[in-house]
Amino acid sequence: MPRYSALIKNEKLSDSLRENEPLAQYTSWRIGGAGEFYTNPSSELEIRRIITFSQAYQIPLTILGGGSNVLLSDRGLKGIVMHLNHRFAGYEFLPDGRVKAKAGTRLGTLIRKAMALNLAGIEQLWGIPGTVGGAVVMNAGACNTETFDVLESVTSMTPEGEIVVRHKHEIHHGYRYSDYKYNGEIVLDATLQLTPTAQEIIRANFDKADERRKPQHNIRQPNSGSIFRNPQGNFAGRLIESLGAKGRTYGNAQVSLDHANFIVNLGGATASDTCQLIASLQADIWEEHHVQLEPEVIFLGEF
Ligand SMILES: Cc1cc2nc3c(=O)[nH]c(=O)nc-3n(C[C@H](O)[C@H](O)[C@H](O)COP(=O)(O)OP(=O)(O)OC[C@H]3O[C@@H](n4cnc5c(N)ncnc54)[C@H](O)[C@@H]3O)c2cc1C
Repeated sequence: MPRYSALIKNEKLSDSLRENEPLAQYTSWRIGGAGEFYTNPSSELEIRRIITFSQAYQIPLTILGGGSNVLLSDRGLKGIVMHLNHRFAGYEFLPDGRVKAKAGTRLGTLIRKAMALNLAGIEQLWGIPGTVGGAVVMNAGACNTETFDVLESVTSMTPEGEIVVRHKHEIHHGYRYSDYKYNGEIVLDATLQLTPTAQEIIRANFDKADERRKPQHNIRQPNSGSIFRNPQGNFAGRLIESLGAKGRTYGNAQVSLDHANFIVNLGGATASDTCQLIASLQADIWEEHHVQLEPEVIFLGEF
């Protein structure tokens, strides 16, 4: 038992603090072990208490949003897992087409609401699961649009508990990453600049995004979206398909029969099954095409 366990229990960190919480239920893949300590805070005050406490005692802290882009270790996560979900959600539409949304807000909810108000800019992102916080961290994107295209600013909290507001131009970002992926800060909210637009135009963009998602709708088993980033000038799915690897299976993890860049959980898949499958695809693609496929999913915990 780590020595910080008693410390955490003695401290009144959060009302929602639970011990040994199964985490697979909070991921779209339904894979992974338990969190030593778990909390889903509802206020900035609670978040500050947890992050500064973890920092002071060097306790590992992992942030989870919608859990749609992570592979969680079978051994679970040590320390504290802070889940920013519906308890830390909400949005406010501001003048001039801007909207400020808290990290735990579902991206899909925000897209629907913006559409109802005739505000364009994020409807192309329809179908990307997860939260606003996760979308900022990952710079989530689809249909030639990414989160940072409409992002105005982000409010975050440092490990010391300080609030920082950064304009988009102060944040490094690119294909499926932003500074928040690496800098240890917690994204609290994001302000997006949307554009008042005729409903027919927004609807047409939305329908196009929805249509593009249709092949994914056929995938009934839990998954985590695209496993690999697309290599320069190519598509990871196309490379995997060229191996004839659709349907390749390790344990209960399988390369989707519908989409070669998806790995599905057939039921009871482990992170270890999934990792072996990922490694076998990387090895074969390297041998066949001399291309190094890089995972898009984030590995959390010990592997
Ligand atoms: C069916 C399916 C389709 C998908 N399609 C797409 C797509 O078209 N385009 C695309 O870009 N992605 C896609 N994804 C991947 C995923 O949905 C996105 O990356 C999404 O933005 C992740 O958000 P999340 O809230 O689930 O983040 P999580 O998976 O919970 O977390 C992702 C990372 O962000 C960190 N994090 C989360 N919230 C915070 C926060 N508030 N502060 C600090 N760190 C935080 C986590 O620690 C983790 O490192 C798809 C996934 C699935 C399952």
